[in-house]
Amino acid sequence: MANMRMDKNPMPEQDPMIRSANFDEVALGYSPEAAMDEARRCLNCPNSPCRGGCPVSVRIPEFIAKVAEGDFATAYEIITSTNALPAVCGRVCPQEKQCEARCVRAIKGESVAIGRLERFVADWHMAREDKAPLTPPASNGHRVAVIGSGPAGLACAGDLAKLGYEVTVFEAFHKAGGVLVYGIPQFRLPKEIVAAEIAQLEALGVRFITNAIVGKSLTVDELFEDGFEAVFIGSGAGLPQFTHVPGENLLGVYSANEFLTRVNLMKAYREDYDTPIKRFKRVAVVGAGNVAMDAARVAKRLGADSVTIIYRRGRDELPARKEEVEHAEAEGIAFELLNNPAAILGDEEGRVTGIELIRQALGEPDEKGRRRPVPVEGSNWVLDVDAVIVAIGTSPNPLIRSTTPNLVVTKKGGIEADEGGRTSREGVFAGGDAVTGAATVILAMGAGKTGAKSIDEYLKNK
Ligand SMILES: Cc1cc2nc3c(=O)[nH]c(=O)nc-3n(C[C@H](O)[C@H](O)[C@H](O)COP(=O)(O)OP(=O)(O)OC[C@H]3O[C@@H](n4cnc5c(N)ncnc54)[C@H](O)[C@@H]3O)c2cc1C
Repeated sequence: MANMRMDKNPMPEQDPMIRSANFDEVALGYSPEAAMDEARRCLNCPNSPCRGGCPVSVRIPEFIAKVAEGDFATAYEIITSTNALPAVCGRVCPQEKQCEARCVRAIKGESVAIGRLERFVADWHMAREDKAPLTPPASNGHRVAVIGSGPAGLACAGDLAKLGYEVTVFEAFHKAGGVLVYGIPQFRLPKEIVAAEIAQLEALGVRFITNAIVGKSLTVDELFEDGFEAVFIGSGAGLPQFTHVPGENLLGVYSANEFLTRVNLMKAYREDYDTPIKRFKRVAVVGAGNVAMDAARVAKRLGADSVTIIYRRGRDELPARKEEVEHAEAEGIAFELLNNPAAILGDEEGRVTGIELIRQALGEPDEKGRRRPVPVEGSNWVLDVDAVIVAIGTSPNPLIRSTTPNLVVTKKGGIEADEGGRTSREGVFAGGDAVTGAATVILAMGAGKTGAKSIDEYLKNK
């Protein structure tokens, strides 16, 4: 008999006052009892609408039924039959717009907490001491190169390795994981989790070469000359966009990517690391997506007294996940909605002293249906800050496209690829943010899996 409780079992969390001064994980995870209780809220709908909302079609009601029975091992097998990174996805997927948005229980009350259950099962598995060690399957003798070690590259590498391919991942940074390690902060996604997923791939025989920038250290064509028979490009969209208002070159202006990379990947928040980062007192973050929320919450944890999100639209249009906005607010992040930067102001030494803002009103909807912000004349005002972090979006880096002849790209600079991830170059496949522009972990992972399938077909028929 289903548990007819209307709301989700609450997620235990660190207290906001305590967590805003540390980098430990905010959400603490369900206990087995809470997970089983939550799983019993699932109605096991025969047509599984939730599954249709998942870009990698996790068999959601099936795994949840196993959680309800307390059979967590089978639940894990069911999830991982389609999702290679469940501990990651359970933490960072926008479930409220995907699987949970389609849950029948959400018609009256809250949806089943599918993401929390996925995380529970993945963490339960990770903590298990009696796991059978993974061993690499017998090699089929074919070599594939994967460029980039974010979710797209990892998913592609994992699926190919399981099929017996000899996979080498080339990563520009000194550590594998893509945005999962350099962008999303430790308090949302502990780096040990990403490291464990990467260790699993290594156990399957995947080789990682870090500090290898394709387009600089070596080119796509050189990969083929070296004997790789296919290449998957999963190089993401790490090139920051800027506002181009006057003053953006002042000291104290960061792109969110640089700021987060210093802190997350290069551990600037830890005394035992040499990475320099200035601890600012009053910080403005321009933008209101997940990246902006992460940058704001990191700035707070580094000791800022005030952190303000500047967003040109209103509350209803905030692009970040609802949970991230709520967490940010609980931690004391301020929001200046309906405001847009007009200039960044500085002192005679070139250091940021403030940000000039202009109030906005919402006009007619744009092509995406979102109401367009319109500046209110004469409404300029100044917010005193000593740092400005710009988080208004990123695009694919031009390095690979500019060093790979005949690789067709889209108007927005993404690599053009068909639904199977095939590009204009024979043997070259692509997926994730490198193709779509900045999107989500699960979409990148799905594209990596699709790419692996296409590479397998291509090499079998070659
Ligand atoms: C701060 C932040 C927070 C986010 N939060 C969420 C969230 O909560 N939920 C969610 O679903 N999504 C979130 N996203 C988006 C999500 O992380 C991305 O959509 C996803 O990581 C894209 O995966 P990818 O594999 O395509 O690229 P990436 O994760 O960007 O990985 C690409 C990798 O390729 C490497 N690379 C680039 N160029 C080269 C080269 N020339 N040679 C070798 N290697 C190269 C890069 O160093 C990087 O490691 C967030 C993004 C950011 C930046």
